[in-house]
Amino acid sequence: MLIVKIADIPEHGLHLNIKDQRKTLLVNGVDVPISVPYSGFMDVEKTDDGRVVVEGSFSVTLRLTCSRCLESFDYHVMESFRDVFFPESFPMGHGVHELSREDLDVLYYRESELDLSLVYLEKTYLSLPMKPLCKEDCKGICPICGKNLNYGECDCNRRVVDPRWEKLAQLKEKLLKG
Ligand SMILES: [Zn+2]
Ligand SMILES: [Zn+2]
Repeated sequence: MLIVKIADIPEHGLHLNIKDQRKTLLVNGVDVPISVPYSGFMDVEKTDDGRVVVEGSFSVTLRLTCSRCLESFDYHVMESFRDVFFPESFPMGHGVHELSREDLDVLYYRESELDLSLVYLEKTYLSLPMKPLCKEDCKGICPICGKNLNYGECDCNRRVVDPRWEKLAQLKEKLLKG
């Protein structure tokens, strides 16, 4: 949480360092470990009509699990952002519409304060891959013996790809051996 009271933002703006010490990030109900904590900065400015413009950049390194080989690996996130928060009472009209057509996120703040951690947390979520891979050409694990194929081949016959045939292949192997 990086709470800023709107009334406390001075006319010349605020320069804040991001020093978020959280050790995990909740992603789809799972606590993902953070291996290198958040760092970065943000400049916060308030306009005459009550908008709050937040601009800056951050980096963080998460410990993700590869969707193919199930090993964990460091995933580095580095993003810059520019977000505009509108007061909830801001009249929806031409101005807002025009802004949203540019590449700006239109967000609202309620009452008198703003949690600025939302800015970099949201950017982090958006940058996470749907299917994390430890490397582009990860070979995954052998569906028969479970060996991580990035460390070398196993002796299984994996020519049969369809999982429905897997059991049959195992049976065949047993028969051949026996
Ligand atoms: Zn992998
Ligand atoms: Zn195998």
